[in-house]
Amino acid sequence: MTLTLPTPPKVGMVSLGCPKALVDSERILTKLRSDGYQLSSEYEEADVVLVNTCGFLDSAKEESLAAIGEAIAENGRVIVTGCMGNEAEVIRQKFPEVLAITGPHQYESVVGAVHVAAPMPPSAYLNLVPESGLKLTPRHYSYLKISEGCNHRCSFCIIPSIRGDLVSRRPDAILREAEKLVAAGTKELLVISQDTSAYGVDLRHAAWPWKGGEVRAHMTDLARELGKLGAWVRLHYVYPYPHVDQVIPLMAEGLVTPYLDIPFQHAAPSVLKAMKRPANEAKVLERIRAWREICPDIAIRSSFVVGFPGETDADFEYLLQWLEEAQLDRVGGFRFEPVTGAAANALPGVVPEEVKEERYARLMETTARISAAKLQAKVGREIDVIIDVADGEGGASGRSQADAPEIDGEVHLRDAAEASPGDILRVLIEDADEHDLFGVPVS
Ligand code: SF4
Repeated sequence: MTLTLPTPPKVGMVSLGCPKALVDSERILTKLRSDGYQLSSEYEEADVVLVNTCGFLDSAKEESLAAIGEAIAENGRVIVTGCMGNEAEVIRQKFPEVLAITGPHQYESVVGAVHVAAPMPPSAYLNLVPESGLKLTPRHYSYLKISEGCNHRCSFCIIPSIRGDLVSRRPDAILREAEKLVAAGTKELLVISQDTSAYGVDLRHAAWPWKGGEVRAHMTDLARELGKLGAWVRLHYVYPYPHVDQVIPLMAEGLVTPYLDIPFQHAAPSVLKAMKRPANEAKVLERIRAWREICPDIAIRSSFVVGFPGETDADFEYLLQWLEEAQLDRVGGFRFEPVTGAAANALPGVVPEEVKEERYARLMETTARISAAKLQAKVGREIDVIIDVADGEGGASGRSQADAPEIDGEVHLRDAAEASPGDILRVLIEDADEHDLFGVPVS
């Protein structure tokens, strides 16, 4: 039997400028080659031509513009990248037919633009990695990383010193990845970062073309566009900056999963100040109330640290009282542990271990009681449940919209012989305990 492989698209490259630009060109070509593309040194053979430009001197800009003009005249399908990508307006004015323009070191963006301009034909022999990439999670849910690093300097955390300041991904690249994941069977997208609310600050919330319109590098725009893909969209690591209020109506509309993971860490003002927490302001309780008025089903999960240096009995009592008022749906508790290199280690007022333990036990007792009452209130209601596991004997377990995988509770089903992982079923809740719900699918 002879096997005819589909022909992969060919990419041409014109590389201008300094050695750094040359290395960029090599990296781009390496990635495209590993994606299955062929390379071409002839304009007429290429399906798309990349021009990696230099914009260091006026003469270099002239040379770059001339190279773009030549590639358009000889081939017509041109993507511009490199230093002159920072002057996209100049290029667009002179060559409106350019397919895409990306800046220096934006490998992901330029490779993404090639994928759009000259898509690879689907073939198990050419595409060794599935469209959605290699995943370590089950097929029906996927983590979607929108940025790396963090601009804050919380005193107990060393992440910024390891991963650096915030670097956001382009919104169109995130959305393309999300589309592929959904096409490959993802029913739930879990948006992660170090600080989801800060998404796009480093990009000055610039807009990129998307589906005939534009999408800004901003949490609200991204959440709205992700919501249109038809999967559950769960937002993690959100800090309560004012613009978080804008995503609550998207949850009320059913576009975004009514769930916010906000790591408050504490409530007492003096502890929050010592922790140097972002968006640390007094009106959070009022805002939580307002969010629940707009979206009554919103589930708020958070985590709290007890025994932070300087935490007094009064601070801890303040936290417990705050939790009684906030009525959070899910809470994770931690005892403060000094992390090597964290600024908090030098703070005065170290809390003795036995006091930490006692506070931790009281924190968990309080939050378990609140959780049990909130879950009890769901008994008798019908809710949607995404199935994670079916035992093959009629039982299954999954999660409601209020539960993220691994960290929150589960919904245990009886008489669910038809259920398979990834199904979203309507379920009547029959019982509840401190953390989990129990129910039966309804037709
Ligand atoms: S704990 Fe603070 S510093 Fe660390 S990643 Fe989160 S927001 Fe950034």
